[in-house]
Amino acid sequence: MHIKKALHKFCNILYVYVKYPKYLKFQFKSKEEITKYQEKRLKRILKIAVEKVPFYKTYKNDIDFDNFSLKELNKLPVVTKDDIREDINRFLREDVKIDQLEWKSTSGSSGKPFKVPKSYYSDAIEVILGYRAWSLGKNVYKVREPAIVLRSFSPKEGEPPYKRDWIRNFWYLSPYDINEKHLDQYLLFIKKSKAKILKGYPSSIYILTLLLKKHNITIPQIETIITSSENMLPLYRKEIETYWKCDVLDWYGQNERTVTVQQCAEGNYHNNDEYGIVQLDNNNNIIATSLNNDIMPLIRYFTNDKAIPNNQTIKCSCGRNLTVPFKSIEGRADDIIYKEGKTPIPTVNFYNLMENFQKVKQFSLVQDEDLTINIKVSENEPLVAKDIDSLKEGIKQRVGNLKINITIVDQILRDKDTDKIKIIKSKVKV
Ligand SMILES: [Zn+2]
Repeated sequence: MHIKKALHKFCNILYVYVKYPKYLKFQFKSKEEITKYQEKRLKRILKIAVEKVPFYKTYKNDIDFDNFSLKELNKLPVVTKDDIREDINRFLREDVKIDQLEWKSTSGSSGKPFKVPKSYYSDAIEVILGYRAWSLGKNVYKVREPAIVLRSFSPKEGEPPYKRDWIRNFWYLSPYDINEKHLDQYLLFIKKSKAKILKGYPSSIYILTLLLKKHNITIPQIETIITSSENMLPLYRKEIETYWKCDVLDWYGQNERTVTVQQCAEGNYHNNDEYGIVQLDNNNNIIATSLNNDIMPLIRYFTNDKAIPNNQTIKCSCGRNLTVPFKSIEGRADDIIYKEGKTPIPTVNFYNLMENFQKVKQFSLVQDEDLTINIKVSENEPLVAKDIDSLKEGIKQRVGNLKINITIVDQILRDKDTDKIKIIKSKVKV
């Protein structure tokens, strides 16, 4: 068994080296070639689905495999996480040995556990897409080039706030310890790494940026900043871009590994077309289809994320022909805030409001079941009573006559389970 695992790992590493150059080329193929490739991949997945996956068998005669196009996808229903969770075996291929599968667990915002099986080269493909995403800035990323990673690492008591992953050449810094006490260590570590890439959560990079700004320190070695996994707030982006003066590229994906989308230096979000298909429903929810998962085909999967749609088809001036499926990400679909009378309102309202308060460093908002709004703020500069009043007034304008609590805190805490800062959270039952 151990030998099998080691072999699997080795094959994945090899796959990265062999396939990465092909992926780099693929993004510049013509629109037609890309669509053709997607059709071929989708046809394969749908064939497997209707022939071998119980849930999809009833759709066998609906799909026109002889005159196949991407439109055939729309003949299949949207599937939610709850649908799958109800009976996962209905969505698994009948001819796989369940006890031999490798699984990818997801935390999810609902806190309910969920897992999907990984196809054989799934890990390698994730790595390749990461590398390609980091190549959308100034330089093409080379395999095993160093990168500073300001996420996915929380040191145990007594451990230093940094560590190296020698295999991938990742230089981890803790997103929990970005403060004056550790600043020198952080700077030394970054210098030693010689990394040109810095990746992290929007919030962790934002906090680092404020700290550097305060001490008037620049780190010109960093040429590309990659953010992911949280909302990239306009305030964060403005602060980060102004300070670092380099490409700040946001990345979107989910643990279920259905679609991933990343920004290029022109600011457009490009879909990884060979990896998955993005659709938006009438409410702009992202509906994702994996072109790789042939063990548990995830077809028209409801991601629970909302996008802001494009008004027109985008042809990006970066020269890549990977589709641009939306303008940007709006946030988790379950993070809708309700105003008086339980009318849902876009969360962007609050981001816009908070931008008017330059003294606010970070905020988080939780809406209780009875619609009470609880806001926590940390400060750049002390907020006086007048500021609090005007903040309260601004919120009232948006939500109406609801109870509002504002608390000033030293720090907006990161969730230890998800490692992220959840900015807007709703406990309201819909
Ligand atoms: Zn582009």
